[in-house]
Amino acid sequence: MARKTILEDCDVLVVGGGMAGTGAAFEARHWGRDLKIICVEKANIDRSGAVAQGLYAINCYMGMQWDENQPEDHVRYARNDLMGMVREDLGYDMARHVDSTVHMFDEWGLPMMKNEKTGRYLREGKWQIMIHGESYKPIVAEAAKKSADKIYNRIMITHLLMDETKENRVGGAVGFNMRTGDYYVFRAKTVIVAAGGASHIFKPRAVGEGMGRTWYAPWSNGSAYALPIAVGAKMTQMENRIVLCRFKDGYGPVGAYFLHLKTYTQNANGENYEKKWYDHTKEMVGEYIDHHPTPTCLRNHAFIQETMAGGGPIHMVTTEAFQDPHLETVGWENFLGMTVGQAVVWASQNIDPKYTNPELTTSEPYVMGSHATCSGAWVSGPEDLSPPEYFWGYNRMLTVEGLFGAGDTVGGSAHKFSSGSFTEGRLAAKAAVKYIEDEKAKDIKVSDKQCEDFKKIIFKPLENYTVGRNEITGGTVSPSYISPIQGLQRLQRIMDEYVGGIATNYMTNANMLKRGLELLEWLQEDLENVGAEDYHQLMRAWELKHRALTSQCVTEHTMFREETRWPGYYYRGDHIKLDDDNWHCLTVSRRDPKTGKFTLEKVPVYHIVDEKEKKQAS
Ligand SMILES: Cc1cc2nc3c(=O)[nH]c(=O)nc-3n(C[C@H](O)[C@H](O)[C@H](O)COP(=O)(O)OP(=O)(O)OC[C@H]3O[C@@H](n4cnc5c(N)ncnc54)[C@H](O)[C@@H]3O)c2cc1C
Repeated sequence: MARKTILEDCDVLVVGGGMAGTGAAFEARHWGRDLKIICVEKANIDRSGAVAQGLYAINCYMGMQWDENQPEDHVRYARNDLMGMVREDLGYDMARHVDSTVHMFDEWGLPMMKNEKTGRYLREGKWQIMIHGESYKPIVAEAAKKSADKIYNRIMITHLLMDETKENRVGGAVGFNMRTGDYYVFRAKTVIVAAGGASHIFKPRAVGEGMGRTWYAPWSNGSAYALPIAVGAKMTQMENRIVLCRFKDGYGPVGAYFLHLKTYTQNANGENYEKKWYDHTKEMVGEYIDHHPTPTCLRNHAFIQETMAGGGPIHMVTTEAFQDPHLETVGWENFLGMTVGQAVVWASQNIDPKYTNPELTTSEPYVMGSHATCSGAWVSGPEDLSPPEYFWGYNRMLTVEGLFGAGDTVGGSAHKFSSGSFTEGRLAAKAAVKYIEDEKAKDIKVSDKQCEDFKKIIFKPLENYTVGRNEITGGTVSPSYISPIQGLQRLQRIMDEYVGGIATNYMTNANMLKRGLELLEWLQEDLENVGAEDYHQLMRAWELKHRALTSQCVTEHTMFREETRWPGYYYRGDHIKLDDDNWHCLTVSRRDPKTGKFTLEKVPVYHIVDEKEKKQAS
């Protein structure tokens, strides 16, 4: 069958129309009035990404106009939560701009909760402000739709195109439409990858009939990492996966409960178990356990240890707060605005939090760069803040020229959340426009051959299926191909059992990681033979391939960092302590696109905030 090819030439190509992508499309238009801006989204931009269902709080707002917080405070906060390992230049840069983003959301009609007396946004916590956020995503999508020349929905980007005149320069991206099967070629002067994080690379707690019930969006498949990794961009902190403490089975958020309702946790005997694990944790991480607030991973650590020691189940004490009718309403609204499923789970399990304390759990690990962890691409920081090792010309540009990133894509800068991701999209787009204006994208050549070669690769799973199905004599097992779900389950078991998932209580070591890498390599070989019976399965096949590449990178990084930096996220059994003497540094990897081999290096972590004061004092 002759397959239709649709060709688009543009200046700025945004891959992924989530929070960062919509921010990028909006800002690209502001600086690039005459540029051609295209945004390509795998789902439908109105309801896509991690925020699709809505949010109840904007988790990153400084409140600088009221001197509630300054960017320095946020850097200190993120640094503390990540046990020291953040890119402070990136964090500061996001924080100094994030308030302006939130003020635009307010102007665009996002219902914000305000203190009637002061007019200030109502705080849920030091950084969070409360919203009625069911309409959050459609509102930011509208801004992107009004800004971009065109939004393409239902197109999955599978590969980046590279310039053939200058090495290591991007030339666009290719993908396919999941409804029509058409092949899309976007030749572009700059590409901003904003494709979200990665769920379902570790085996989830909910499998079989419950599959898809995860904390992180099940459709986030690691394209944000796989696309740059495949073309040799450097990555950072990919070992820094996140494990969440959430309400059991529904993964409902706990932030509003802790912060606004002042609920607390206890073990099955009604004890404060966190205190019990203080000495044990101090032995592992030293003075980090005395920091305030307690780093998220260390709170997880106490939860995991207590459960392993037989103190579970762990409960959230809601029965006290819910006696107050206002707090009871807030408690329920918190779910209805963003995780309706939790309310349904409680109804099905006969839990009324006014009378029964609901159970908590720790999730399977996810990989992301915008929430409380900072996995992602190694990018240039802003000119005025970044030390030489962190700066190569354009803010948020990866180590591939013309390739930018934002949101979950960008590593080293945690705690950006929805508002910070949108802000980072804006920063990346501004720099991408400057890159074009500086004539850095001149004479890019992407040949027809490069595009035709990708076309064959992208649609191969359909061919694998069409040919291979003739050999099936019964059931669905073919001698010649594996289905995307079979491949996914195999990937998840490898990651779960060897790389520190729930099967081992997040424990791994060099021997397990070595074996995991071997198994991942063989999986990669077999993925050449993945079969797709329709365009939806073709998407699943490419999601799986992106997940597998992301997983290899996560495993390589986990192997490289020979310490347990974040107990509660994962443990290196052979290096069970935090080791500041040798590992107070960032990890950076690069996969050679020709050989597929990874190389890793240590890069200094610069504590920019407070450094001046320290120097002055000494
Ligand atoms: C469960 C949960 C709760 C959260 N709660 C809050 C909260 O209360 N407050 C808050 O401020 N933040 C919250 N966050 C964080 C916030 O949602 C993220 O920080 C933010 O969405 C990250 O933006 P992003 O653009 O990087 O990713 P996303 O918003 O997830 O967008 C990624 C986009 O890329 C698309 N895409 C993926 N792959 C491809 C591909 N190959 N081709 C084309 N398109 C692709 C996806 O469909 C998606 O639209 C929460 C996140 C989660 C997961």
